[in-house]
Amino acid sequence: MLRKIMLNDHIGGPALSQVKKGDYVKLGQLIGKPEGLGANVHASFQGTVTELTDVSIIIEADEKQPEEFMKLENKENKLEMIQDAGIIGAGGAGFPTHVKLNTTLEDGCIIVNAAECEPILSHNIALLNVSGEKIIKGLKEIMTLTNAKKGIIAIKPKHKKTLIHLGKMVKDLEDIELFYLPNIYPAGDERVIIREVLDVELEPGQLPLVANAIVTNVETVKNIYNCIYEQKPVITKDLTIGGRVNGCSDGKAILDVPIGTTMIELINNNGGYQKNHGEIVIGGPFTGRSGSEESVVGKTTGGCLVAMPFPQETRKVGLLECECGAEKGRLTEIAEAMGAEVIASERCKRMTEVNGRYRCDLPGECPGQTETVLKLKKQGAEVIIAGACED
Ligand code: SF4
Repeated sequence: MLRKIMLNDHIGGPALSQVKKGDYVKLGQLIGKPEGLGANVHASFQGTVTELTDVSIIIEADEKQPEEFMKLENKENKLEMIQDAGIIGAGGAGFPTHVKLNTTLEDGCIIVNAAECEPILSHNIALLNVSGEKIIKGLKEIMTLTNAKKGIIAIKPKHKKTLIHLGKMVKDLEDIELFYLPNIYPAGDERVIIREVLDVELEPGQLPLVANAIVTNVETVKNIYNCIYEQKPVITKDLTIGGRVNGCSDGKAILDVPIGTTMIELINNNGGYQKNHGEIVIGGPFTGRSGSEESVVGKTTGGCLVAMPFPQETRKVGLLECECGAEKGRLTEIAEAMGAEVIASERCKRMTEVNGRYRCDLPGECPGQTETVLKLKKQGAEVIIAGACED
């Protein structure tokens, strides 16, 4: 079977292929290296390279895949190992982890983001339940690397079972503690985490480093553990299947899916479509994008959600954009799928432009949207599709 491995899952330019057509690649073999900012790419399937493009490598995968993968070189310098492993922020941003961790946090802290903010998604909590020890060990490694004095796991108290499990693990550790996040969306936004945990209000565009902290996703910490303790490169991804998939409506967490697995395989292997399904959303319901059955799992793919068919809409539509939810492109895509005419688009009033990108001033402290709704109505909107998480 042909497998597509993307070379551009990370922030930065696509990695450059290290293989050529006809090469036989082993599971875990380095097949892509970045030029400048980026991350290494490893073969998540063993087989023969059949095609190369600027952004992907196609492998005719062997029918039987080995359990053993090619191990990374064990080095003294753990940051180098993290770079070798091709680790990037698995929570969605895709920023290279070796760059993020290449800093010193005197008296600072590492915050593990376990907010699991998007509805349905549940794989980070599932990971904490089954591999909490790995997360604690991975967190300790990050603290050593950065000289951080404290590690904090930020989680919502509604995950009671996980809290009890983690609580037992950290109760005798002086330098690691749990922090309860409010049950709001978007509690997982880095600036919300810093505000809630450290009581520091970052400006839009400012990084947690300003507050002497680094925020990292649960799965990214697992990948660091895997790299340091098992010499394993990033060749699998944790994700949630949900929506109109038989038996998965409320979200089914699946850990360690090979990168390059297609959406239709995930759906078919987990119950198949329910009748009357709509688009496949890759990611969470709020910030996900429309995908296809052939879309493949990448290093930041958090969800494979099957939606209901879109209702059709004949009224004129106004779009209300949110920085932490659906932005204009996604809202337009939804309106088009509904057969609707988009007449106007407005941003939540808390969105401000920073370096050419709109950011939210106070994520999670959402204002009423009456004023924006009236603006849309004035422009002829008869109905509104809102990406904003309130009102
Ligand atoms: S304040 Fe506005 S832009 Fe920010 S999260 Fe809330 S609705 Fe979205």
